[in-house]
Amino acid sequence: MTQHRYPQPLLFIDGTWREGRGGQRTAVLNPADESKLADLPLAEIADLDEALEAAARAFRLWRRTTAFERAAILERAAELLAERRAEIAFVVTCEQGKPLAEAGMEIDRCVDTFRWFAGEATRLVEEVYPKRPQGFRQKKVAEPLGVVAAFTAWNFPAILIARKLAPALAAGCSVILKASEEAPASAMALVKALEDAGLPKGLVNLVFGVPDEVSAHLLSQPRVRKLSFTGSVPVGKLLAVRAAEHLARCTLELGGHAPAVIFEDADLEKAVADCTAFKFRNAGQVCITISRFYVQESVYGEVLERFADKANAIKTGPGLDPSSTMGPLANARRLAAMEELTGDAIGCGARVVLGGTRLGNQGYFYAPTVLADVPETARIMREEPFGPIAPFASFADEEEVVTRSNALEYGLAAYAFSADPARLDRMGRDLEAGMVGLNALTPALADTPTGGLKASGIGYEGGREGLEAYFHKKVLGLAS
Ligand code: NAD
Repeated sequence: MTQHRYPQPLLFIDGTWREGRGGQRTAVLNPADESKLADLPLAEIADLDEALEAAARAFRLWRRTTAFERAAILERAAELLAERRAEIAFVVTCEQGKPLAEAGMEIDRCVDTFRWFAGEATRLVEEVYPKRPQGFRQKKVAEPLGVVAAFTAWNFPAILIARKLAPALAAGCSVILKASEEAPASAMALVKALEDAGLPKGLVNLVFGVPDEVSAHLLSQPRVRKLSFTGSVPVGKLLAVRAAEHLARCTLELGGHAPAVIFEDADLEKAVADCTAFKFRNAGQVCITISRFYVQESVYGEVLERFADKANAIKTGPGLDPSSTMGPLANARRLAAMEELTGDAIGCGARVVLGGTRLGNQGYFYAPTVLADVPETARIMREEPFGPIAPFASFADEEEVVTRSNALEYGLAAYAFSADPARLDRMGRDLEAGMVGLNALTPALADTPTGGLKASGIGYEGGREGLEAYFHKKVLGLAS
């Protein structure tokens, strides 16, 4: 029996954990059984204004600290997260549904992310340009942008936050974070680690609310100099328009629809094993997961059969049960979407090889599902499924499959499997995606930049680029 308990979620404004001024609340549900975990307080405009005031005040002091001082706090927060790994993983699983083992790995990635950005900020150097004949020099310095409005989704309720807070704070910015109302306690755990590590008050403010009202208000404020959002394409576009009012800079990590292209010369056993594990992780609710499988005609039947066998071995159940290898979907919207997408695909002529139904009638469980012969006209081949459905289609040759892979508005991730190095080179070049896995799947890690092409986003998270997103490069002219 676990000794952990689900905490009462609260807002964190100007260094104080508290209720919203208006007393509004919404229920947080456990996706494994639909029971109520807690009532979440919601912020109203007065709370947001207090958070803005606090963030602006804290920024004025924080921007003057050295990168080493900021790194020390992030390092300490990373240590606390590592110590609290089991407790936070429990919270992630309760409110988001993923198996405890996956939740633990998510916390490990938060630790890595805090550490990596702490270190990276201390490695930035200022550059001095060559003397000009007119007798002056120029120097380029990186200055933190200011108050950041950050919005994160529910699918990775801890790491999506770490990927915003760590670089923003390391750079010297302050943050108002509106985390997902569906997974608030994971966000609290990260903010608490920063508070306990000695982060000065007002630097990170955590709010929940009516998402549209919160973003409309925060982004209407000229003091907000940066928007960072992770979520769907339509909401990302809406927030970008709002940010344009005061030309706040944007980092947008939006949806994807990654193709996995399996050629006949690939190591089929390895490709299928890797793809199955990757596809059903977090019940498929991953922006860079595989959304379409294209398999060359000559090996199509074999790959489909091997994949369905592996998927059939997945044990779906509550994330807190250590024997579960896939948890429920995170919310009722995803369950309804799975039912709709499967029904639509069948209507378009797809064949159900495995699953295709909800499991039980309590909790948002959907069976690992494999659909064969899915035509490009089916919605699932164009809309991000964000769930445990693997649609398969066959292809004849490389040129055709590249065209089909690149046909959508998304461009986040793509994967290709082949034994031919020249073909892999061409796929790496020709697939229109921010990241391309070649005989490999590509996780989003702390030290490499992840960013989408086309409608999948603007800018990068992770890597040096993820840190630079929080700086303005100021040029100083100096008489010499
Ligand atoms: P959504 O875009 O409506 O919500 C995602 C997050 O954005 C949520 O936490 C929500 O609170 C917030 N949000 C929604 N509207 C907002 C607004 N007007 N202002 C500020 N924040 C707002 O998505 P959803 O219904 O939760 O999921 C739908 C689809 O979004 C998924 O099927 C998936 O395709 C995509 N999605 C992508 C990611 C990702 O990692 N890129 C994460 C979650 C969802």
